[in-house]
Amino acid sequence: MAKKCAVIGAGITGLSAAYYLQKEDSSIEIDILEASDVPGGKIKTYQKDGYTIELGPESYLGRKKIMTELAEAIGLKDEIVVNNTGKSYIYAKNKLYPIPGGSILGIPTEMKPFLSTRLISPIGKLRAGMDYLIQPKPMEPDVSVGAFFRRRLGNETLENLIEPLLSGIYGADIDKLSLKSTFPDFKATEEKHGGLIKGMRANKKKAPKSKGPVQGQFRQFKNGLMSFIEALVKDLEQKGISIKYNHKVDGIEKLDNGYHITVNGEKVYYDKVIITVPHTVFRNWLNDGPLNYFDYMETTSVATVVMAFDDSQVNNNENGTGFVIAKNSDTVITACTWTDKKWSHTTPPGKTLLRAYVGRPGSNVVKDNDDAAIVKLARNDLDKMMEIKGEPEFTIVTKLFNSMPQYEVGHIDRIRAIQHYIKTQYPGLVITGASFEAVGLPDCVAQGQRAALQIAHE
Ligand code: FAD
Repeated sequence: MAKKCAVIGAGITGLSAAYYLQKEDSSIEIDILEASDVPGGKIKTYQKDGYTIELGPESYLGRKKIMTELAEAIGLKDEIVVNNTGKSYIYAKNKLYPIPGGSILGIPTEMKPFLSTRLISPIGKLRAGMDYLIQPKPMEPDVSVGAFFRRRLGNETLENLIEPLLSGIYGADIDKLSLKSTFPDFKATEEKHGGLIKGMRANKKKAPKSKGPVQGQFRQFKNGLMSFIEALVKDLEQKGISIKYNHKVDGIEKLDNGYHITVNGEKVYYDKVIITVPHTVFRNWLNDGPLNYFDYMETTSVATVVMAFDDSQVNNNENGTGFVIAKNSDTVITACTWTDKKWSHTTPPGKTLLRAYVGRPGSNVVKDNDDAAIVKLARNDLDKMMEIKGEPEFTIVTKLFNSMPQYEVGHIDRIRAIQHYIKTQYPGLVITGASFEAVGLPDCVAQGQRAALQIAHE
């Protein structure tokens, strides 16, 4: 009889896992069990009146090729869109400053733009320059991103330039965020070259020079990220994989040879299981041994706030894509994308689309405020940064509670121990997804692929 595998969760990780498992071993029967009535998890695209608006994640990093390869394999080659480039800004000291040219994730690799920016004081620049003199020191087993950069470049460069850029990706407190789990290459570069700036400059010189106009780093689809999910679902269904919506898993029981999964109160047998739900969900099913780490792993709640205006209401002549905000600024929003400028396919001509993020670690602003209050708070902040007249034509607030898993110092070593434990104690079962190795969409695809290959060959 054919083996049966349950993939729990139809977010990008679960759908990718099913795709690669079917590809690796088409004899396995796959059921995707999804609690809600739609696929995609955090991915949600709103399309109406010429707008294509992302309510969750907004794009993916093009250099992580696996997502583009998967998109091409499911027929979306001609749908891929690259972002328009332009200046990005940082809001700090009550002002928007262009990010100094040549900086990579905030680390200066060209001296002239760094020396001429007013974002960092002369003393702060001098302190950053000490990176050339400070010897690398062992930071085993792990250290926070904040501690690493404070030591190398000083507090000011960290707080005004690096923190706003890096912490947003993880919705994290930079002084708790694990360097080894998120940006291990920075430590490797520092050690190899004896300094971070020196190392980043050397890496930049070695990188192949692109011919033609500079391309944006991010990728999207003409009809939004949800069109990627829909194409993936269609591909899976054509291959006979069933996606069972409104199938909420409540528990997993290990048997001598396989698993019982409790779905909507009923026990169903599967030989193999791939779990891709967030840790806030699966920790109620399995929390023995090192898995109890997930009992206290933190999450951040965030909200995306979309505001659409007529162009005549917004005075924004910047040729830019948006701005991030230094934590020491007194704002509720943490970043804002000038979406119509970054992604022209998202907005009808004559309209301006702003998309802001709300929610920091430890803040209850998303939980404590209703949508109208969140719009008000976001607008209050935006009025400090931009000239906007009148009320938006429409707004959309999407709250994503406990949606950003926090990779605190020591995270990845614990994950390795957990993966080893699961492999030995739960044969034929894999847990993966954004709570594990990385949160980015292509990383989720890659984690789904690894889970599938492990299950296919176990
Ligand atoms: P999820 O998307 O959470 O999917 C899990 C699925 O499991 C859901 O469908 C859920 O309904 C289902 N489920 C839950 N409980 C059960 C149950 N009991 N039984 C059955 N099914 C269940 N990444 C980027 O690369 N680019 C971005 O621009 C970006 N922006 C982001 C913005 C925000 C606001 C957030 C929160 C994240 C962002 N990310 C971004 C990260 C990325 O969106 C996520 O890491 C990724 O979508 C997680 O996918 P997943 O499949 O692992 O989990």
